[in-house]
Amino acid sequence: MAQTPGQLQMQLDGMGSLRRSHYCGQVISGLVGSEVVVTGWVHRRRDHGGVVFVDLRDRTGLVQVVFRPDVSQEAHLRSEALRSEFVLLARGTVQRRSEETVNPNLPTGEVEILAAELRILNTAVPPPFPIEEDPGVDESVRLRYRIHDLRRPPLQRALELRHRLYQAFRACLSDLGFLEIETPVLAKATPEGARDFLVPSRRQHGSFYALPQSPQIMKQLLMIGGYDRYFQIARCFRDEDQRADRQLEFTQVDLEMSFVGVDEVLEVLEETTARSCADAAGVELPRPFPRYSYQETMDRFGSDRPDTRIQLELVDLSDVFRSSEFRSFRAAVEGGGIVKCLPVHQAEELSRGEIDRLESFVSKELGARGLAWIRITSDGTWQAPIVKFLSEPERTAIAERTEAKPGTLLLFQADDAGRANAILSRLRVDLGEKLGRVDGRIWDPLFVLDFPIFERDEEGELTYMHMPFVAPMEEDLPLLDVDPERVRATHYDVVLNGVELGSGSLRNHRSDVQRQILGILGYGKEEMEHRFGFLLNALDTGAPPHGGFAFGYDRLAMVLAGADNLRDVIAFPKTQRGQDLLMDAPTVVDQEQLDELGLRLAKQRTDR
Ligand code: ASP
Repeated sequence: MAQTPGQLQMQLDGMGSLRRSHYCGQVISGLVGSEVVVTGWVHRRRDHGGVVFVDLRDRTGLVQVVFRPDVSQEAHLRSEALRSEFVLLARGTVQRRSEETVNPNLPTGEVEILAAELRILNTAVPPPFPIEEDPGVDESVRLRYRIHDLRRPPLQRALELRHRLYQAFRACLSDLGFLEIETPVLAKATPEGARDFLVPSRRQHGSFYALPQSPQIMKQLLMIGGYDRYFQIARCFRDEDQRADRQLEFTQVDLEMSFVGVDEVLEVLEETTARSCADAAGVELPRPFPRYSYQETMDRFGSDRPDTRIQLELVDLSDVFRSSEFRSFRAAVEGGGIVKCLPVHQAEELSRGEIDRLESFVSKELGARGLAWIRITSDGTWQAPIVKFLSEPERTAIAERTEAKPGTLLLFQADDAGRANAILSRLRVDLGEKLGRVDGRIWDPLFVLDFPIFERDEEGELTYMHMPFVAPMEEDLPLLDVDPERVRATHYDVVLNGVELGSGSLRNHRSDVQRQILGILGYGKEEMEHRFGFLLNALDTGAPPHGGFAFGYDRLAMVLAGADNLRDVIAFPKTQRGQDLLMDAPTVVDQEQLDELGLRLAKQRTDR
């Protein structure tokens, strides 16, 4: 950025012996007649015919400072030079504003400071956008000029909320007997299903640390070490494609407990979630949190993080089309998929054009093969291109199951279960919000339980659904050998307003069970020892039964702040492409550094 002429010419002051007496936002009418010293940034400066008015801003708000030549000629003279974002200190007397100049929108709007002294502590380049609630610029501009962005009220509120939330978690977990213990960041890979960030070792060329995807293994080792109840506000690193609710590095409130079953962990989670939300944000969550099984959430809402305030539910019609004449629906079921329907009653306001738009949205954005629909008109006619393919019994079954009536719009997906559910659950949320089908509850916390321990990956191989250390339900242990896909996990999620706040489970504390699971996941004996030997050996030193959880701290802050993007509650976030636009990271490094680390680039970068 270019230097301002101010920096070149202006002689800057020090604070001298003066100390701030009040934050800007604290200067209210009770102080009328007192002398105050305030510091901050010039928010706005106005020259009204010889009298200069400055709105001075700090983290707590704005206060008006008035410079009049008849009060201090010197201060007035110097105030002429002030520009937006200059940093200053002013000493003066608080006085009541005249009736007509009172600003009812400002907590300090009844008063102003009549300045006797002005110290200009620094100049500033002109800000790239107004430091206001809504600066009216693109997010990339706000990320590049994050310093100015941080001065805006929305980020100030978000970061203050984060602060209160840290304190609330710490107080609550400490009260519940948890010890705060740090674990290393330079560590060994912990499989949480994402790619690792690797850090090359300078001392052992060719060897790498991995940044933890979570402190999972470490906290298990702490349990084995006898630390019973642990927590940590931990940084986690996962090299995966970013979405609105993901960042490459993020914060967890991570916890683990020994000698517990699922119910005891859930009690702690409910208490911790409810207390932290209340203490940090004044939010009273309804208790007890309802519990849903994974199967139920998938059946009814198509998602394992349902927002149950939305009064729309899915209906499975697969059995109706198992031997249907309607080829595309039958083929989906024959191929192991499903036919599912989202009935939207009283949907008259959704025009044909809007249905077309929905279809193009799900096809282009969500990879749908189309969007079959039926509208039941006011006279009860079934209107849609697909109606002619349906038999009378099929129509009757659809009508009964979906409770279709005049005005109902039926939206269908016939596909593999994963995609059909993903598409319909998205439509459920979008249409629920658009049509106002949301009940009056403001907060909707719930638990989801009874997840399967394994699932099939895209190649059809058995893989873990969450991570490889999750313990099976005790009564399902015999199934591990014979039918692993039917084994239920001790895994649980906490969901708030349709956002997954975090996950946890009981862990395998017996090394034989852990080995069996790693075996099912395809780890050979040698690889098992190489990657997890230290954990397996630790389990054999006398591991207590244990389980835990990790809150996605940024997500919780996002929900409580009413934001819809993680970047709005993180001081220095990365873009969707994983870049820090302020620091310009990642960046190329010197050859010397690469040599020290024993690294050679396969391809030289050509873009710099
Ligand atoms: N380590 C898990 C995760 O990061 C949380 C847990 O199971 O405690 O998702």
